[in-house]
Amino acid sequence: MQQHSGVLYVVATPIGNLGDMTERARKVLAEVDLIAAEDTRETLRLLSHFGITAKLRAYHEHNETAMREPLLRMLEEGRSIALVSDAGTPLISDPGYTLVAAARERGLSVVPVPGPSALICALSASGLPSDRFLFLGFLPRGRAQRRVLLESLAHEPGTLIFYESAKRALASLEDLQAVLGQQRRVVIGRELTKRFETFLDGLPGELIERLEHDAEQRLGELVILVQGAASAPDEAQCAEWERVLRVLCESLPLSQAAAVGARLTGAKKNRLYRLGLELGLAARGD
Ligand code: SAM
Repeated sequence: MQQHSGVLYVVATPIGNLGDMTERARKVLAEVDLIAAEDTRETLRLLSHFGITAKLRAYHEHNETAMREPLLRMLEEGRSIALVSDAGTPLISDPGYTLVAAARERGLSVVPVPGPSALICALSASGLPSDRFLFLGFLPRGRAQRRVLLESLAHEPGTLIFYESAKRALASLEDLQAVLGQQRRVVIGRELTKRFETFLDGLPGELIERLEHDAEQRLGELVILVQGAASAPDEAQCAEWERVLRVLCESLPLSQAAAVGARLTGAKKNRLYRLGLELGLAARGD
C-alpha cells in the first residue's frame, strides 16, 4: 500500500479481541513516520503483537495542546502520522479532535482507517433500534449532573448510548430508572469482543437487581444502551392532558392529579407530573 506523505491517519484498533485489527490498520501503522498514541506502552504491546516497530510519541489529554503544533509541523513537512488511542476509534471519548480539526483547517489530508468502536459494536448486537441513536460518551460522575443530563434526554426518540465505568454502573442505572422511568428497555454490553463478553437486557429494575446480586457484572468495561422515548404526543393529546390536569388540580395536589390523570388518559404519570410543573400547577408540598 502506498503511504501518502503529509497525511494524518486516524486509525481504529481492537477494543479487546486482537483478531479485530484490520489489515489496513496494520499496514498504516507499520509504514507511517510516527504514531501518536494515547498510551505508548499500550500501543507498544499492540505493535509488538503484530511485529511492527515504529516511532511512538505520546499524545493524550494532558499534552494535547503542547503536541498539536509539532505534529502539524511534521505533517506540513510531508511526514505521515497515525493517531491511535488505547482501544477503538480515536476521538470517540478519546483524544484527537483538536488535532484533526486543526489539520483540516490547514488544508492537510486526514484519512480515516476504520475499525472497532465499542458503541457501534454494542448497538449492532443490542436488539435496540439502530435507525436513530444518540451517543453521549461518559455520563457525568456526580449524581445531580447525571440526572440533569438524563432529564434533558427524556424526549429523545433515538436509542441512547453511554459509556460507563463498571463501578458507577449501578448508580447510573438507578438514575436512569428514576429519571426516564421503569418501562424502557436497557441493554448493557460488557467486555465486548473479549472472553467474558455479556449482554444483559431488561427493564432498569431488573438490571439493577442483576448487578446487585452478581458482582461479576460490575467488573470490566461496559456500554449502556437505553430504548428511546415513545413518539411525542400530538397537539390534541397534549391539550387533552392539560385539560384533565387542570380540572384535577382544582381539588388534588399535582402528584395525585398526575396519578389519576394517568389512569384517565393512558399517559405516563411522570409525563403528566412534568406537564403539571411546566403549567405551574404544583402547589406547595407537591
Ligand atoms: N475510543 C473508544 C471506542 O471507540 O469505543 C472508547 C474509549 S473510552 C475512553 C473507553 C470506554 O469505552 C470504556 O470505559 C467503556 O465504556 C467502552 N468500552 C471500550 N471497550 C469496551 C469493551 N470491550 N466492551 C465494552 N465497553 C467498552
